[in-house]
Amino acid sequence: MDDRTPTAPAAAKPEIDTAQAPLAPRADGRRNLVGLARPEIAAALAELGEKPFRAGQLWRWIYVRGATEFGGMSDISKGLRARLEERFYVYRPAISRHQASIDGTQKWLLRMEDGAEIECVHIPEKERGTLCVSSQVGCTLTCRFCHTGTQRLVRNLEAHEIVAQLLSARDAFGEWPPPERGRKLTNVVMMGMGEPLFNYENVARALSIAMDQDGFALSRRRITLSTSGVVPMIRRCGEELGVSLAISLHAVTDELRSRIVPINKKWPIAELLDACRSYPGASNARRITFEYVMLKGVNDSLADARGLVQLLAGIHAKVNLIPFNPWPGSEFECSSWDQIERFSDVLAEAGFTTPVRRPRGRDILAACGQLKSDTERQRRAAPAPG
Ligand code: SF4
Repeated sequence: MDDRTPTAPAAAKPEIDTAQAPLAPRADGRRNLVGLARPEIAAALAELGEKPFRAGQLWRWIYVRGATEFGGMSDISKGLRARLEERFYVYRPAISRHQASIDGTQKWLLRMEDGAEIECVHIPEKERGTLCVSSQVGCTLTCRFCHTGTQRLVRNLEAHEIVAQLLSARDAFGEWPPPERGRKLTNVVMMGMGEPLFNYENVARALSIAMDQDGFALSRRRITLSTSGVVPMIRRCGEELGVSLAISLHAVTDELRSRIVPINKKWPIAELLDACRSYPGASNARRITFEYVMLKGVNDSLADARGLVQLLAGIHAKVNLIPFNPWPGSEFECSSWDQIERFSDVLAEAGFTTPVRRPRGRDILAACGQLKSDTERQRRAAPAPG
């Protein structure tokens, strides 16, 4: 909000950490190419005696044309296509379940090679379509309003499993190559299952691949990483990736925030906001989003709204008010619409942009993590085969 806040220099072009070990081959001995950096693909091709420019060809087939088979790669000789087929594959997760809401929201439950399942959601809007991407299978954190917080953490997602969520969405929309106008997938938010800054290396690698302008070509301005407040990683995220930042704030006192976003006990509000004040690249044109879920009688008073105005003074901020999406067993109710509007008015009067997120996908299992839980419940209830 304060124009005097200094603007840090724009982040450098992201580099993929090629020191990370390439993926182990599958049982059939073939290696996955999704998630490898371009130099790693070049190195793998060099083992076949191929020149580095072949890596660029493969890269464009995978990330511009969406190819999953080598057979159709028409600018590569038949002999090489056959050798590629023997040694490599182009990964896609299986789709365990798919739901489409009458409002256009779509949700996929994706199954990874080891059977782990994660959710991925597409939210269409007037001039853009946002894919909400998961970074972990489950979550170690236990934010009280979040259904995923009730699931145990199974593991971090690998970089290729994060990239594959974007590829799968583009498959679903048939956007290979993506059209100039009217694309369905224009924006990405790392706001699905898991805390992305607890899986930073894989998230960074995946986003670097997605931002490669000769490939998937997503602008960093169209990517938002949402964190519950892993303070020590925030600056690094801004410096290395330069993506937009969103903070799951949800409360204006440490007492309440520690109760509903327990990571606050480790990194309290003041430390979190300090990290936001120095987030590289934040400016009036690129504000940090503060997410605030509206919980009836818990955090939605006008005193809370005024507290929020005070807390965010001096930060290039906008506040995203999120009507709580109830799920079975949740202890909260959503604030009334009148109260959300009154809360929003206090922020607007103080000069904050305050979009109220319209509830989306209410006719499907829209709360984060709900589709996964429901599917597991159905499987447990199903009679054993045979
Ligand atoms: S809100 Fe995010 S960080 Fe918190 S429990 Fe849910 S998935 Fe984890």
